[in-house]
Amino acid sequence: MSTTERAAIGGAVAPLDTRGPAAGSGAGAFAEAARQLTVCNACRYCEGYCAVYPALELRRALSRGDVTYLANLCHDCRACYYACMYAPPHEFGINIPQALAEVRHAGYQRHARPRAGAGLFAAMPEALAAGAVAAVVVGLALWLVGPARMLTAQRGAGAFYRIVPYWAIVIPGLALCCYWLGVWAAGARVFWRDIEMRGRAPSAGAAMGAAWDVLVLRWLRGGGPGCPYPDEHPSRTRALLHSLVFYGFLAATASTTIAAIDQDLLGRLPPYALTSAPVILGTAGGVAMILGTVGMLIAKGRSDRQPASGAMTGMEFVFVLTLGLASLTGLLTLALRSTGVLGPALVIHLAIVAALFVTAPYGKFVHAIYRYLALVRRRMEQDGDGRPAAEL
Ligand code: SF4
Ligand code: SF4
Repeated sequence: MSTTERAAIGGAVAPLDTRGPAAGSGAGAFAEAARQLTVCNACRYCEGYCAVYPALELRRALSRGDVTYLANLCHDCRACYYACMYAPPHEFGINIPQALAEVRHAGYQRHARPRAGAGLFAAMPEALAAGAVAAVVVGLALWLVGPARMLTAQRGAGAFYRIVPYWAIVIPGLALCCYWLGVWAAGARVFWRDIEMRGRAPSAGAAMGAAWDVLVLRWLRGGGPGCPYPDEHPSRTRALLHSLVFYGFLAATASTTIAAIDQDLLGRLPPYALTSAPVILGTAGGVAMILGTVGMLIAKGRSDRQPASGAMTGMEFVFVLTLGLASLTGLLTLALRSTGVLGPALVIHLAIVAALFVTAPYGKFVHAIYRYLALVRRRMEQDGDGRPAAEL
């Protein structure tokens, strides 16, 4: 059944405004999401599940910016899919998690800058891109260090840098980090414009409120009983796995920051004592991220494919796997630091971190920034400061 036929069956569908700067990309995904959301706006059965439905109810017609905004408020819990009396095989074919995931996926490419980088990653599978970056880094390290030094045990202060020179870690690392953050900042600007918030600065209260929503993973409660993911049975499992990865990532970031201060401001070179803050935080964060990513991969493998977007599932799988491998190789580098295989462990860890840095601006990791901005807009709407364009 075509979108037009479904629209007719679904009832009056508000015309989708496909003009504007984002027009011409992912138009089918937008039109299908708008059709389904229009049915939902008449039904409203799912309004207690998440932030999407209350925000939808503020709108009488859906612009392209509205669909982008609502898609990024969705966190793919799938509660609405399992509750829906119009889900396939019903002829209305309502499948909101899939429709919104398709819109998000199209947006990850459309918002990313520079466009050449986004186009390059759009042209190849994320796994291939990550693998290619990791292989290049391993090749460069072997060329720079040589196999003999790579397999020589190094101990004491500065052991890591006797294998891979300090400059060869810090300069590319800083360059990749700046590139990542620059692409994110540019993407955030484009996203803010695409959700029709250009010229409307986020208020401090909305920014802090949305940050709180993120910190406490507020919307992963699924309206109370939890997310029905990976199957139709609601549980807290997904919230737990996200907490492990999210707080593990924060702990690992804190570990790296403290280590950088120790090294570059206080002159204390790694490796650090097992009881030091960088090692304790890094170990706790790494273990949490490994547990969380392994759990997520298992859940993803078991998850119901019907409400999923195939393109998004592949992207998520590569991102979670890369994150898990970065954590695992980081812990292995710590565990093997007094042995002759420290060199290979360190180089493989650096290669995977580089793959994460290069692919992050164009893959699933960008959901963090777009979702945060969507939550900021939601807070602004609640405060009467980010009203839907139709209401202005
Ligand atoms: S997903 Fe289905 S049940 Fe829920 S609001 Fe939309 S049409 Fe209604
Ligand atoms: S999948 Fe979950 S978060 Fe997304 S719209 Fe449905 S209930 Fe809301």
